[in-house]
Amino acid sequence: MLAYIGLGSNLKDPKAQIKRALASLSNNKAELISVSSFYESKPLLEIPGPNYLNAVCKIETKLSAIDLLDLCQEIEESQQRVREVKWGSRTIDLDILLYGEQVISNKRLSIPHPEAINRAFVLVPLFEIEPNIKFPLLGSIKDLLERINKLDVNKL
Ligand code: ADP
Ligand code: MG
Repeated sequence: MLAYIGLGSNLKDPKAQIKRALASLSNNKAELISVSSFYESKPLLEIPGPNYLNAVCKIETKLSAIDLLDLCQEIEESQQRVREVKWGSRTIDLDILLYGEQVISNKRLSIPHPEAINRAFVLVPLFEIEPNIKFPLLGSIKDLLERINKLDVNKL
């Protein structure tokens, strides 16, 4: 299965955090296919804190969607992510944006990721690596990108 994961960090050397998480995404059940450039963005809703570094990667995996979520959460834990404020600062955040063309909605998992289509720091790097991708039910990334403000996301 092909899947896309959004990565974000704004604490403790964000570039190193994202590189480390990317390395952890390659194991015997998942293979990293491509990675976007790194982008800088401002915290959501003007929550105080350092700017974020974001990237999106494409993986090929044998894992089910829920097992992929477990892997993402293990990586977050291994990088000492502490959950304090919702949307607050974090060492690393891994969100499953798309899992093939599947639509999933249960207690632990919503795919496509519900906020992805509103976030320039997700759509801009995703467009860089997959300009022709379509979100199930939601349409092409080109159309989705036209609806949002892209000014606050800058390629490094
Ligand atoms: P956020 O990413 O919104 O800042 P968290 O990373 O703390 O918040 O995630 C909160 C919960 O979101 C997780 O416990 C996870 O079960 C759930 N979740 C739902 N859909 C997804 C998804 N597509 N990718 C990652 N987590 C998801
Ligand atoms: Mg998350």
